[in-house]
Amino acid sequence: MMKKIFFTLIFSIFVLFAFGQNEQPYFQQEVNYDIEVTLDDKSHTLKGVTKIEYINNSPDDLESIYFHLWANAYKNQKTAFAKQQVQNGSTKFFFAKDNEKGSYTQISFEVNGQKVDWTYDEEHIDIALVKLNQKLRPQQSIQFRIPFEIKIPKYFSRMGHEGQAYYISQWFPKPAVYDRDGWHPMPYLDMGEFYAEFGKFDVKITLPEDYVVAATGQLQTESEKKFLDRKVRETNRYINEKYPRGSDRTLPLLEKDTFPNTNLPNKTIRYTAENIHDFAWFADKRFFVQKGKVAIGENNNVFTWSFFNKKEFHLWLNATKYLEQAVQFYSQKVGEYPYPHVTAVSNPYGALGAMEYPMITLVDRMFSANNLDVVIAHEVGHNWFQGILGFNERDYTWLDEGINSYYERLYEKNFYPDLKEQPLLEFLQEDGEIDLMELLKSSMQKENTHQAISTPVNEMTEMNYGIGSYDRTADIMGLYLTPHKMKGFFNQWKFKHPQPSDFIKYFDLENDKAFNDLIYTEKKVDYKIVSVSKSGGYRLKINNKNGIAVPFKISMIAGDQIRTQNVEGFVGEKTIQIPPHSEGLTFDKFIIDKDREIPDFNRKNNTIRTSGLLKKVEPFRLKFLGGVQNPTKTTMYWLPALGWNNYDKTMLGVVLHNNDLAAKNFEFAVAPMYGTASKNIVGTGVVKYNFFPESSLFQRVTLSMHGKRYSSRYDWRNKFYDDFTKLTPKLEFVFRKKRMVSSVEHKVSFRYVNISKNEGFTTIDNPTDVQRRKNNYYVNELKYTFNDSKVTSPLKLEFTAHQGEGFVRLFSNYKQFIPYRKGGKGATIRGFLGWLPQLDNPPALVGFTLGGITNEVSTRDYMFDENLLGRTQDLGIFSQQYFNRDARLRTLANQGSSEEWMLGLGVSSTIPGPLPIRPYFDAAIYKGFDFDKFKEATIFSYSGGVAIVGIPDAIEIYIPFFESKDITDSFLYETDRNTLFKRISFLIDLNALQRVGKETIRFY
Ligand SMILES: [Zn+2]
Repeated sequence: MMKKIFFTLIFSIFVLFAFGQNEQPYFQQEVNYDIEVTLDDKSHTLKGVTKIEYINNSPDDLESIYFHLWANAYKNQKTAFAKQQVQNGSTKFFFAKDNEKGSYTQISFEVNGQKVDWTYDEEHIDIALVKLNQKLRPQQSIQFRIPFEIKIPKYFSRMGHEGQAYYISQWFPKPAVYDRDGWHPMPYLDMGEFYAEFGKFDVKITLPEDYVVAATGQLQTESEKKFLDRKVRETNRYINEKYPRGSDRTLPLLEKDTFPNTNLPNKTIRYTAENIHDFAWFADKRFFVQKGKVAIGENNNVFTWSFFNKKEFHLWLNATKYLEQAVQFYSQKVGEYPYPHVTAVSNPYGALGAMEYPMITLVDRMFSANNLDVVIAHEVGHNWFQGILGFNERDYTWLDEGINSYYERLYEKNFYPDLKEQPLLEFLQEDGEIDLMELLKSSMQKENTHQAISTPVNEMTEMNYGIGSYDRTADIMGLYLTPHKMKGFFNQWKFKHPQPSDFIKYFDLENDKAFNDLIYTEKKVDYKIVSVSKSGGYRLKINNKNGIAVPFKISMIAGDQIRTQNVEGFVGEKTIQIPPHSEGLTFDKFIIDKDREIPDFNRKNNTIRTSGLLKKVEPFRLKFLGGVQNPTKTTMYWLPALGWNNYDKTMLGVVLHNNDLAAKNFEFAVAPMYGTASKNIVGTGVVKYNFFPESSLFQRVTLSMHGKRYSSRYDWRNKFYDDFTKLTPKLEFVFRKKRMVSSVEHKVSFRYVNISKNEGFTTIDNPTDVQRRKNNYYVNELKYTFNDSKVTSPLKLEFTAHQGEGFVRLFSNYKQFIPYRKGGKGATIRGFLGWLPQLDNPPALVGFTLGGITNEVSTRDYMFDENLLGRTQDLGIFSQQYFNRDARLRTLANQGSSEEWMLGLGVSSTIPGPLPIRPYFDAAIYKGFDFDKFKEATIFSYSGGVAIVGIPDAIEIYIPFFESKDITDSFLYETDRNTLFKRISFLIDLNALQRVGKETIRFY
């Protein structure tokens, strides 16, 4: 529960300690349902009655029963579901219109024919506590009668509708589980699954007669069976018509899939089922239907059904085959499938996800048929791991997702030995390189952003949920799960609620420290070969600092011969004696875990050669463009560099970097170039060293050196160039978040900026003799950044101090985005406050300005942070490049500067509709020189207009419509900038562009 995180943590720890000493005998409640429901497809409502027989098999008297009313999750922004959506960066539900939300509009509870009192949970409107008039004694049962009405929300999560397509799951009032640990009430979540009691279901659904329905349970209505068979025949005819013999069946249909505008009388169809804990159904008039049959053990009649839409018609042509394959595979590996059918339904309104329910699964849009097959297999697999073995998915996601992912891998290996998970990025990979999933897992552990696999779901980041519960657990299951033993576990626990302790006990893992560390701690595995020496064979010194003692293998390579030795897991340092090669050969190298069976997160230190100077350094290679880390090689990437500015003109060179998408300590990217006009060697580069200290105040500490050198002016009369060289050592501290799911980040950085200007000049005496002088200065910068990335109100606040010869400059920037609709629509507010406590003959123009423009004499960009096309242009298009500075008036005013203080405020907002246009208004107040009165004064300036936005904050054009008089009166305005076109400015912020690029890459 979200109620108190602290409470949840304590509770989890308690549960952890309770393992193995749970003296209470196992019991399980029985809950049998009889549901009648009517779908109204005009008002999108469900109206019905749920009758429940609740049998108390526990040894306890029950005074009240917790119910889940999960349709209420879609009622408002305060539900646990709504909050989690925001936490995970989605504003879709946050900006839902009222008529798109949903909830129970009516519900009441009767027990044994009498009304009972009930209340909503104080915090969660989707949990109810029903008070019984009389205690329910052990072995007694009661009958609930619960009339209800639900307004179906738009499709945001598992229950919803898109037009007249209905996805009805987690919909009926359902008692929470009462087990050995007590009650398990839980609010509905999108990320985080379920736990429910087993029982019998009898469900009658009434809806217009042309709806095609796919549901959990065995269909009992003869007329509906005939209706479905007719749909199957129609589908087959349609396939033959659209894909005649010899045509390419991998091509999509590309046809509109509109809802038939029919208005037919209702039909009632009935389903029954036993030994299940949930019931879902999906209804759409447009469904195509295919049907197959598969024999499972004694049962020759397990039916396979697929229901799909035109959008993905071509992918679903063989879906019943995939179902057949999956249900047979799991039946052989784990235990026989006990249900009468297995069904898959396509959902064209979701992307790349899927959700399992007993006997039936709903699958989002997929990118290929193979991909669909593997996803169907995974979801079918959940019939075993959660459907039949009724794990508490919410509290122990790793149990169902981890074990199921382990079997999904076996399935994939069996049917698609060559299938790559991310075909889009396949070009980046080559043999020997780790795949993207491995890369993510190792990068997260390198950066210490991984969480313990057992972390409660409401404290887990989306990344950790997706990677920890699924993939990392599947790795662990690969080490500890013996498949034949799983059959025994399955038979012992089928149709029950096994807890982690039951699993651990059955697989003899109670005393396996390594297994428990892998699941319950944030510890990592990183075996490292420290050294190799020759003495009676070889002595290998291996270190596993603070790690987990997972057993591993050492491979010994002698030419093309490989020997393998098993090693007991250990923590700390250990010397392993390797006997000499039996045929007297010398071993060339030793590799720890060559076949990647253990979850070693850092494979870069797993290899050592027996000879050579640099035994631990991997062979070097140079590769074009970029790639995915290859742990057996040291790779440098190269690509051609092309640049342009108004002085160097076209710049040509090469980019050298080591960005292979993995988090690493040492990073570099340098781009030396040749300026074709200046004939100068120019370019930019950065070298970084990242520290990722474990369990410290800091998440990351980075020491870096940045360099930059470009021409900055061309004297066309005397034909010489000015240039500048900038060198910046920098130290950055990123603080560890208090809670991993927090959207707030704190950062402190210090940098020393050294600028060396190399300028040409002539004297009046000797106007043709160009002499050169160097102009050096430094600036120290200390900066604190507060960044809250919460999607509903992202906010950034910076406090900066600059100190150089003769000046101290203090300033603060504030930026907040206030969205008013999904899809990036909203208003941006920016603020600035600056003060110069000391100013005494500084080396550059460090006063505050209304905005950033270029200038003949010197740019206001005294730190040379900006990438300007014409750094010292007064005139022409390149003088119209604007950069974000100080008060940020989006105007080309060189008017307005202060050597004391300045305050700025700017607002811009998107407009409704698709046009990328943002009206803006910027204002500033500052102490400056008033040219009218010819004296110091407090001046108010403003500018307003319209921005055309290419990429927000990176590529924008500003058209000013009105400006304050001090700006329009200024000398620059009157002489050079008196037409609207000349007052248009543009922003091209390469630093911001790079950030956007980086975030995109990180997203993958
Ligand atoms: Zn799953």
